[in-house]
Amino acid sequence: MAYNVTLIPGDGIGPELTEATRRVLEATGVKFNWDIVNAGVDVIEEYGTPLPDHVIESIRTNKVALKGPITTPVGYGFRSVNVSMRKILDLYTCLRPCKSYAGTPTIFNDIDLVIVRENTEDLYAGIEFENGTPEAAEIIQAIEKLSGNKIRKDSGISIKPISVTGTERIVRFAFEYARANNRRKVTALHKANIMKFTDGLFLAVARQVAEKYPDIEFEDRIIDNMTMQMVKNPAQFDVIVCPNLYGDIISDLGAGLVGGLGLAPGANIGDEAALFEPTHGSAPKYKGMNKANPMAQMLSGVMMLRHLGENEAAQRLDAAIAAVIKEGKRITYDLLPEDKRSQAVGTSQVADAIIEKLG
Ligand code: NAD
Repeated sequence: MAYNVTLIPGDGIGPELTEATRRVLEATGVKFNWDIVNAGVDVIEEYGTPLPDHVIESIRTNKVALKGPITTPVGYGFRSVNVSMRKILDLYTCLRPCKSYAGTPTIFNDIDLVIVRENTEDLYAGIEFENGTPEAAEIIQAIEKLSGNKIRKDSGISIKPISVTGTERIVRFAFEYARANNRRKVTALHKANIMKFTDGLFLAVARQVAEKYPDIEFEDRIIDNMTMQMVKNPAQFDVIVCPNLYGDIISDLGAGLVGGLGLAPGANIGDEAALFEPTHGSAPKYKGMNKANPMAQMLSGVMMLRHLGENEAAQRLDAAIAAVIKEGKRITYDLLPEDKRSQAVGTSQVADAIIEKLG
């Protein structure tokens, strides 16, 4: 049987990475019918939007998608296509494992943690009011009336909604994931000391959900303290569950701890569909240079194989990637110390090396 999977190459380094990943996935022997559709700045001219309806329809139909990174203009232009996809499809969980692979130039070699980030709420809900607009003036007036707090008239406003419903389902996901994967502990992140009605709610609901899982240890950390502890002693953490913004930041921190963004995969999972993509972005400066590390994209493919129930193929691909890293001969520049970067190979050569290991 072949799996129907939506393939979104993305932009920047995305097309090179997804092509390398498609090759290694097919080399596992698992069969795919790829429905290749695109989104992002390059399709605006043709479809009048960076996220055409047929892209969403394809994911809804196939229920599984592999996606390359997509560029978002900073501070102007269209809203993030990535955030929109997650919202439209209600992909409420962002799952990001951070695992040490032997041979990477890092301080720690014993990290094996999983970040479970809420994907639809918080300051990333996309509810914003631009400074100077009538809408911003109205919301400022309403907030002043309701809260008694003064807000400067020339402010922009971003809204941070965190709900009981959204928190319950993400924390439940974290505990279910912990149980299914023999994990021992869940740590919830927050800033409940300052934001009592949003992060405070997140913590209170997390504590309630935790009571239903007495077999899994539960603890919480204030986010600023967490960043320090993750850098000092990351091995103490196992499954981490958090609201959207902290999850975004802590994911890059986790990626840095295990050797960089080139090794950090991810999945966006909802009740109806799942979309697999690396933590990193489109790295536009490396576009078309056959230089970027495809392993985060490939490891997202490993997560996709597991999601499809192809555990043996997932295990073999993960082991082949690990073997290429350990050997250290055919790896991209980012996995090499500065003085050895001239020995780096390109994106497609990494795929060749992994396919060789798959045999
Ligand atoms: P980035 O992740 O693209 O790059 C950060 C740094 O890591 C850069 O130095 C880059 O060269 C390096 N890097 C990233 N991936 C790499 C890889 N596979 N191999 C080697 N080096 C790699 O982050 P950015 O520069 O902040 O963002 C660029 C664009 O990507 C922005 O438009 C941003 O909005 C977008 N973005 C998209 C996604 C997504 O599609 N899910 C996620 C994050 C950022």
